[in-house]
Amino acid sequence: MRGIAVAAPCERTARAARGRLARVGAAIRSPARVGLLGMLAGLVGLAWAADGVQAADELNLYSHRQPFLIEPFLEAFTAETGIKVNVVYASKGLAQRLQAEGKNSPADVVLTVDIGRLAIYADKDLLAPVESAVLTEAVPAHLRDPDGRWFALSKRARVIAVSKDGIPAGAIETYEDLADPEWEGRICTRPGSHVYNRALMASMIAAHGEEAAEEWATGLVANLARRPQGNDRAQVKAIYEGLCDVAIINSYYYGKLASSDIEEQRAWAAAMNMIFPNQDDRGTHINISGGGVAKYSRNKETAVVFLEFLTREAAQLLYGTVNYEYPINPAVAPAPKVAAWGTFKEDSLPIVRIAELAPTAQRVIDRTGW
Ligand code: FE
Repeated sequence: MRGIAVAAPCERTARAARGRLARVGAAIRSPARVGLLGMLAGLVGLAWAADGVQAADELNLYSHRQPFLIEPFLEAFTAETGIKVNVVYASKGLAQRLQAEGKNSPADVVLTVDIGRLAIYADKDLLAPVESAVLTEAVPAHLRDPDGRWFALSKRARVIAVSKDGIPAGAIETYEDLADPEWEGRICTRPGSHVYNRALMASMIAAHGEEAAEEWATGLVANLARRPQGNDRAQVKAIYEGLCDVAIINSYYYGKLASSDIEEQRAWAAAMNMIFPNQDDRGTHINISGGGVAKYSRNKETAVVFLEFLTREAAQLLYGTVNYEYPINPAVAPAPKVAAWGTFKEDSLPIVRIAELAPTAQRVIDRTGW
């Protein structure tokens, strides 16, 4: 956790504020201190307002994304612009925190993963509409908010992982295939209500309508080898262990496992082939990481500069080299390790539809017990 710094009317006040905020920062890293965090956040917000306007050479970022991923971006941004970025990292609760802080929030930029989470910020009216020719050029229209409140910054495909030994080439080519009784007892997934699967379910509803999508989910659940459990990595491990032959995972997990420092994880990855589904029709379901400018940012211009930076070639490549994600900027090629998986057709459904259909998707997931 980096401390959050503020510019203050006098340097001594600023130093005092920095010290105070650095201490808050130290508290934020520990997930066990969320209660304390919320309390401190309120105090900090007030202190901020009292200390005065923030300097334009600093930016405050609220990030759902992890430090290992974000820090290389911040180093590059500061090297290029001289602007220091202070970060609050949290795996959950950032939208609630932003809401609680209201006009006193120090946040300038919010970064998160999954369209479902981005849409929550927009729905709670926590993001400022942005007009930027750079962003509208770099981010395809189907991957940004029509009102300019959020923009995709990277992409990931929800792919099918199949056992190299257990599944012949070409036997599974679509998400729809996963409901075929042929695969009874052979599929593993994490719970349907996880945002990644809820988004996939929403894409099935967009493609087929609610009724047919529910039939599909019923067939998928009937084919499960075990109760839905664990994260995406755990499904690849289950293939390696022979518990199942088929799983649904985000593409970057394959990259992370295949390049892991842990030998066992490399063995998990080696046991699977990655299939990009639905290449002969609508394309593979994709999801995004993204960001927006905080509604009450006192530094909106710099916040936009930061988002623009994240859509440029150097940053777009970093998403691939650090986390095996795909660039959203069509002018940028995927990083070599990601490009090695081959090209694929992606579902070009406006990503906002996934967020709109999420409540319906969740109801289907509940009814089918996924
Ligand atoms: Fe993930």
